[in-house]
Amino acid sequence: MHIDLTQRVAVVTGGANGIGRATAHRLARSGAHVAIWDLASSPGEAAATMLASEGLHVQFVEADVTQRASVDAAVSATIALFGGIDILINNAGITRDAQLVKVKDGSIAGGMTDDEFDAVVAVNLKGVYTCTQAVVPELLKRGGGRIVNASSVVALNGNFGQTNYVATKAGVIGMTQVWARELGKQNITVNAIAPGFIATDMTAKMPASALAAMQSHTPVGRLGSPEDVANAYCFLASDFAAFINGAVLTVDGGLVIGT
Ligand code: NAD
Repeated sequence: MHIDLTQRVAVVTGGANGIGRATAHRLARSGAHVAIWDLASSPGEAAATMLASEGLHVQFVEADVTQRASVDAAVSATIALFGGIDILINNAGITRDAQLVKVKDGSIAGGMTDDEFDAVVAVNLKGVYTCTQAVVPELLKRGGGRIVNASSVVALNGNFGQTNYVATKAGVIGMTQVWARELGKQNITVNAIAPGFIATDMTAKMPASALAAMQSHTPVGRLGSPEDVANAYCFLASDFAAFINGAVLTVDGGLVIGT
């Protein structure tokens, strides 16, 4: 499948690292002009410089998706760089894992804090809302566009120690379905991806035993790569996905059916 995104401008939030960086690369290799939005300026600049050295049209724009003023400024900066926006990849995400109530030797030994809950909601859920609300007017000016949101297989199945993260990723599916209904008539499609366990900094924080268990439950027998997910984002951002709207695409090597 040859995906052609020439003349398109894409924003990838959380594009400085991991899946987002691979997605910026994939979209740019398909011809898109790409703005990497991230609050991590050093890896963000490095990613953009590296991709630009391959002759690709990639620029870094510092943005904190939890701050509306920062997002509005990033929209303006992206318009100044590339003249418009056609594709929004809402990829930025964080984890702050803890059990709801941790019980050890019959006694309560801690649990998730309000700060851990609120931090994950601010990035993974409200950040997606804020970026989408800020970018949709730009998509409308171009006559339509594509929005792809990062959910996770854990939104569909739950996961130990991830009350906050699972709540946000399930919420992303809900928002995706609402926006697919609200924006479809405007020629804007909205979909979500639900990756399984992908080898990035995020999963590097997980215990090795938990990752090994996930791998053993994955029929294809490996963790995913950032490029596996980047390919799914790119497909849903392309003309090949013109009639896919409100869908959740799992990218998990069969983890769900294998569990
Ligand atoms: P990562 O930790 O490697 O990268 C996340 C990026 O988001 C970082 O560059 C970080 O600086 C950026 N970010 C964090 N807070 C931000 C903020 N407030 N504003 C702007 N940028 C911010 O993560 P990843 O593994 O590449 O995950 C990417 C997305 O995929 C996330 O939404 C994650 O929840 C989702 N996901 C990942 C996996 C996995 O196994 N890695 C599985 C399912 C879903």
